[in-house]
Amino acid sequence: MINNFSEDDLIPMSALSHVSYCPRRYALIHLEQIWEENRFTAEGDVLHERVHNEHSQSRKTFREEYSMGVRSLEYGLTGKCDLVELWFDANNKTENNAKNEVKNSAKDAKNNTENKAEDDTKNKTENRNPIKVNPVEFKRGRTKENDADRVQLCAQAICLEEMFHIPIDQAQLYYLQERRRKDIAIDENLRKTTIELTQKIREIRSSNQTPIAVYEKRKCTNCSLVDICMPEWTQKSVSRYIKRQISLIEQEHEEHEQKREQKCENY
Ligand code: SF4
Repeated sequence: MINNFSEDDLIPMSALSHVSYCPRRYALIHLEQIWEENRFTAEGDVLHERVHNEHSQSRKTFREEYSMGVRSLEYGLTGKCDLVELWFDANNKTENNAKNEVKNSAKDAKNNTENKAEDDTKNKTENRNPIKVNPVEFKRGRTKENDADRVQLCAQAICLEEMFHIPIDQAQLYYLQERRRKDIAIDENLRKTTIELTQKIREIRSSNQTPIAVYEKRKCTNCSLVDICMPEWTQKSVSRYIKRQISLIEQEHEEHEQKREQKCENY
C-alpha cells in the first residue's frame, strides 16, 4: 500500500455523495459550512442515529460492526460505515495484518473524532482475519438514479480493502422505503467515478472557490440548500453578466474599427 495522504489530508466519505449530487452543494456545505435541514435530511439523520444505536452481533465465524470508523491513506478517505459484516475462518485465530492495520489506524486517528470508532473496532477484530467483508449503507427513500449513494459505498469498500487487505467486489445499500438490501457491484467504473470525485473535491478545496449554480429543476427542488443557493437567480445573473461583457467587447471593437476607418479617410 502506498501512503499518498497524511491523517490531516483525508476527505470525509460523506463529501463524495455531496459532490456527486452537485459540486456547488459540496462547496456550500464543506467550504462555506452552510447546512440547511429539510424533511429529507432530517429523516436521514434519524435513520442513521437508529442504525448507530444498534448493537453488534458476534458469532464464531461472523461479526457485525455498526458505526465502524474506516480510512484509506492511499486514496485519502475517512468516515464511518453504518454496518460492516465480517466473516471469519473458524480455524484462523493468529495475529495478522488486519489486526496491525486497525491498531495503527486507531492510534494515528487518536485525535480525529471521525475515526474514534476505530478504538472499539481494534479490540473486536483482534486475532481475526476476515475472509469476507460486506459494507452496508442505510438510506432513507428509494434507489436513486444518480451515483451519490453508490460512490459513498464504494469509498467504504476501498477503505475496508486497505484496512483488511481483502478484495471487496460487492457491497449493499438498504433503502428504508424499499425495505430490502440491494447488491451493488464495486466494479472498475464505480471505482473510477469515486476516485475522480475525490480529485474533484481536492480541486475545489485547493481553489477555495464555490462553483456557480447549474440549475436542474428536479435536483434543485429536492436540495435542502435551494433557498440559500438560489440557483435560478445565480444562473440568470451570470448569463446576464456574460451577455453584458460580450456586448461591451463588440461595442469596443466597433468603435475601434470606426476610428481606424476615419484615419484612413483623412490620409
Ligand atoms: S440548489 Fe441546485 S445548484 Fe444549488 S446546491 Fe442544490 S443542487 Fe446544487
